Amino acid sequence: MSNRHLPRARPRHLVGLAVVTLLGATALAGCSGSSAASSSNGSGGTLDVVASFYPIEFAIEQIGGSHVHVTSLTKPGAEPHDVELTPKDVATVTDTKLVVYATGFQPAVDEAVSQQAADRAFDVAPTAHLDLAAPAEGGKAPAAGAKDPHFWLDPERYQAVSKAIGAKLAEVDPGHAADYAKNTTAFVAKLVALDQEFAAGTKTCTNKDLVTSHAAFGYLSTRYGFTQVPITGLDPEVEPSAADLSRIADFVKAHRVTTIYAETLVEPKFAQTVGDATGARVATLDPIEGLTSKSVGKDYLEVMRSNLVTLQQGQGCS
Ligand SMILES: [Zn+2]
Repeated sequence: MSNRHLPRARPRHLVGLAVVTLLGATALAGCSGSSAASSSNGSGGTLDVVASFYPIEFAIEQIGGSHVHVTSLTKPGAEPHDVELTPKDVATVTDTKLVVYATGFQPAVDEAVSQQAADRAFDVAPTAHLDLAAPAEGGKAPAAGAKDPHFWLDPERYQAVSKAIGAKLAEVDPGHAADYAKNTTAFVAKLVALDQEFAAGTKTCTNKDLVTSHAAFGYLSTRYGFTQVPITGLDPEVEPSAADLSRIADFVKAHRVTTIYAETLVEPKFAQTVGDATGARVATLDPIEGLTSKSVGKDYLEVMRSNLVTLQQGQGCS
């Protein structure tokens, strides 16, 4: 990790200055503490919140509405598992009033949070009910107790996380608690509708084996009756061995799998290798770890609905 020499937390008196500035003591606005002030308290009375990656960012946007300005530590198009934080990112974590993350998913974020914002961090992993063990990675067994972090691909787990985020925003910013509660209810209703569409749309699938690029779809598979067969483990950057690829190709042929799923944020070469070896088609199933110009949809809900159509075509659902 490159974060060994992180800047120390800013002195509390600067945070105090920030509050004074917000209350209208404009004479202080030009002082040397103003950059810390603006980044921790937002402008126009909005609450600045830092999210570790896209699905958390999206939930905060949906629930925070106009009261919250959210910054993601994972830039659009970046793959979040192995995100590296710049000194500016670390400063953002240091200055924020609230950082929302999921422990065990992004080691660089876990480290920055524990060193810079332990008292202002909100970990959503406990509310996501992570009960799937992490699969083997590059031939190595996972760390003891390591869990699959991809909760957002199960709309029910994402609902639980969203409710927890709503409650946390209300705690940090009680003046807007009623709006956060209302927005949480509305967002959860969207996730309930999505869950019902998935349940109905995958009921008749004739092929239940889901051959994916990395092991992002474990919770989705559990919820909708699929068996995930990932080409790589939890980390898309860990390359499969030739033996892994040949084992997956044998599985594809034996189980008459018609479609191999590639992703938007990682190169599709391994999915393509298996496709070439077996004659299976390669389609894109988006794990929604971040949005890019290649994403099929402008937000989580739209991309999930595109994923449903892709699954229905690839898994023989009528
Ligand atoms: Zn992943």
